[in-house]
Amino acid sequence: SAKNQGKNSYQMYQPEMESKNILRFSLESALRRALENNELLLHYQPQVDLISNQTTGFEALVRWNNAELGLISPTDFIPIAEEIGLIIPIGEFVLYTACLQAQQWRERHAVDINISVNLSGRQLIQANIVERILAIVESTGLPFNLLTIELTESILMDHSKETLDKLEKLSQSGFTISIDDFGTGYSSMSYLKRYPIDTLKIDRSFVSGLPEDANDVAITQAIIALAKNLDMKLVAEGVETEEQLEFLRVHKCDTAQGYLHSRPVVAEQAEQFILNKNDRNVVMNNE
Ligand code: C2E
Ligand code: MG
Ligand code: MG
Ligand code: MG
Repeated sequence: SAKNQGKNSYQMYQPEMESKNILRFSLESALRRALENNELLLHYQPQVDLISNQTTGFEALVRWNNAELGLISPTDFIPIAEEIGLIIPIGEFVLYTACLQAQQWRERHAVDINISVNLSGRQLIQANIVERILAIVESTGLPFNLLTIELTESILMDHSKETLDKLEKLSQSGFTISIDDFGTGYSSMSYLKRYPIDTLKIDRSFVSGLPEDANDVAITQAIIALAKNLDMKLVAEGVETEEQLEFLRVHKCDTAQGYLHSRPVVAEQAEQFILNKNDRNVVMNNE
């Protein structure tokens, strides 16, 4: 702001700046009311086992549907929610809703479905985050081994004792810990041996160039080798083509997630993947 630039500096009046501020302000105030107005919902994207070709789980992805603003992407509103602290109640809503959904599917279809939930750094630094997660998941009845917690690399860069303690408690409780967007976050990999990590998610930006792009091939193969040697599982993000799928299968990646199988879809549609586990073309892609 102009204030932060010191007494002797002034800022030129820029109309587009003002309209940006107004836009940001109305987005913020609308977001503050989104939860109570039931404007947030979850979509679920199938995760498909590359050997059995079956859906073994889903990633829960939050959506915001506002009457005036329309459908707002999480890449637009999650950063704002993080800044103003709203990510705490939103994150808890997502965790509760996703676990309850997985538990309902479990009861209805007598099949264990894994559910992945994204946890923001702002959530993880809460002193009581482990207790909050345990209480929420427990209230849904979902067995702890069916929840995967997705964290990005940047969250793990603090190397603090607190973070280590929290992740160890979560891991010992039975949750799966997964690194989201792996390879994009940070150059140091020492956190991989410090923390109890179960799964690496190969970022979409590396998958997109498979199998033609030599750099993407090299990076993907290196990530797969790394995970194997560290005894971790692999999920490939953003799988859009049969060629990418085949490359990943040949190179022994465990799981694929992407538009090839399905876009993220509402719960009723996601359920079809559980009912028709052997036929991935039964549900149409229409987010
Ligand atoms: P993410 O956790 O890496 O989720 C994967 C994103 O990639 C999703 O975008 C998904 O729709 C998209 N995607 C999946 N397959 C494909 C594909 O084949 N091609 C392309 N082009 N995209 C694909 P989405 O749903 O827009 O979410 C974006 C990001 O917002 C997420 O990235 C995550 O970082 C964040 N986010 C979403 N829901 C939550 C949430 O509940 N809590 C938190 N903290 N963050 C969330
Ligand atoms: Mg994710
Ligand atoms: Mg991701
Ligand atoms: Mg990604």
